Amino acid sequence: MLKPEFSLVSLGCARSLVDSEKMVQDLQKIGFKLVAEGTGEKITLLNTCSFISAAVAETEDNIRHLVARKEAGELKYVVVTGCYPSRYKKEELQERFPDVDLWLTTREEDRIKQELSQLVFRKKYMPSKPVRYTKLTPSHYAYLKISEGCDNWCSFCTIPKIRGVHTSKPLDVVIAEAKLQLSFGVTELILIAEDTTCWGEDLYGKPSLPILLDALADLPVKWIRVMYVFPPRVNDELIQVLKSRPNICRYLDMPIQHVNSDLLLSMNRRYTNEYLRDCLNSLKAAMPDMVLRTSLILGFPGETEAHVEELLSFMEEFPFTQLGCFAYSEEKETRSARLEAKVEMPEIQSRIKRVMDAQYKIVQRTSAALVGTAVEVLYEGDGLARSFREAPDVDGRILLEAADNLIVGHYYQAVITGVKGYDLEARLVAS
Ligand code: SF4
Repeated sequence: MLKPEFSLVSLGCARSLVDSEKMVQDLQKIGFKLVAEGTGEKITLLNTCSFISAAVAETEDNIRHLVARKEAGELKYVVVTGCYPSRYKKEELQERFPDVDLWLTTREEDRIKQELSQLVFRKKYMPSKPVRYTKLTPSHYAYLKISEGCDNWCSFCTIPKIRGVHTSKPLDVVIAEAKLQLSFGVTELILIAEDTTCWGEDLYGKPSLPILLDALADLPVKWIRVMYVFPPRVNDELIQVLKSRPNICRYLDMPIQHVNSDLLLSMNRRYTNEYLRDCLNSLKAAMPDMVLRTSLILGFPGETEAHVEELLSFMEEFPFTQLGCFAYSEEKETRSARLEAKVEMPEIQSRIKRVMDAQYKIVQRTSAALVGTAVEVLYEGDGLARSFREAPDVDGRILLEAADNLIVGHYYQAVITGVKGYDLEARLVAS
């Protein structure tokens, strides 16, 4: 009889990883067991990403790889979930990849227990039993997904179509999930969603992230970090809660995409250059030590040399501590795909290089100013640590001298001693 063991390949961002973790729990509760890929398992679960063409290509490469393993007799069942089957019609996918045994969209993932039991054992799924929770992130931090979907309809984005309308998790559910994570020893909760600032709109009639943050900050958690903030929803209430609760990191991930008002309008981002200036000035005035992370899209249709210059001078005026740059990717279902004045990819890449070169210089300058300052760091192993200024996976890190005897997941006092690329160097100070 087939052993109910499965491996997992989770593509994409932290939001997708949270979905993977949920499916792993669901399957383990009914007797399936997560094992490492290539250890004799006969089932592989591929949780996918597909919001831009590059992610679709990566997903399809992974499907082909798994199908090849199935043809070679290494696997019996290939299950594909997540954004990819949500973006395309199932019949088309079945025709393209007939060897995939089960497709589940993001809205069908809750049925994985039933569907996989039926597929593998031809029977209804067994009653759930308690199992040890399997975390897919290190033991000291956890992503808390506070809502699903998005109603912002940025003109370049496929997510509202893939993930559906915005739906908040009720407050008590988020708090229960946070408490569960804290019971595993987690000390850092990282709030994620497509747009975290929209949380509560469907529950309370208006975006209410400050209510949730206040409730989470009452828990015994060291750091709370907020990602994916939509700029128009940064208001005084949010600034006040960020400022007043010491366990909420003075860190915001706020993707601005661009700074030119005409392009922002064309992107349907619902703010202008002037608004952004006011917003950033308000944040810095309230919390001078606030660290901001952002991401930009270069090469949106209609972007000119003058727009790039405007962006570069904005970055000098409002330096971001962490900044990522994406090439505009034309996705046929989106409104921006119908826009004219397209920018060619070589030109987009050259603009990205200019922006990232400028950002590198900004980081060298701003990081140099930190040398000699004291910082509390969270040790993550291999001589690497983070402070409140760095989120896992996406930001620079702190390279710690003499870290031999440190414990992963513990906090230490350190002093910044140097700058190395986008990273900082630090040495421990006696506590
Ligand atoms: S805020 Fe805009 S870019 Fe982000 S998921 Fe929603 S529609 Fe997409």
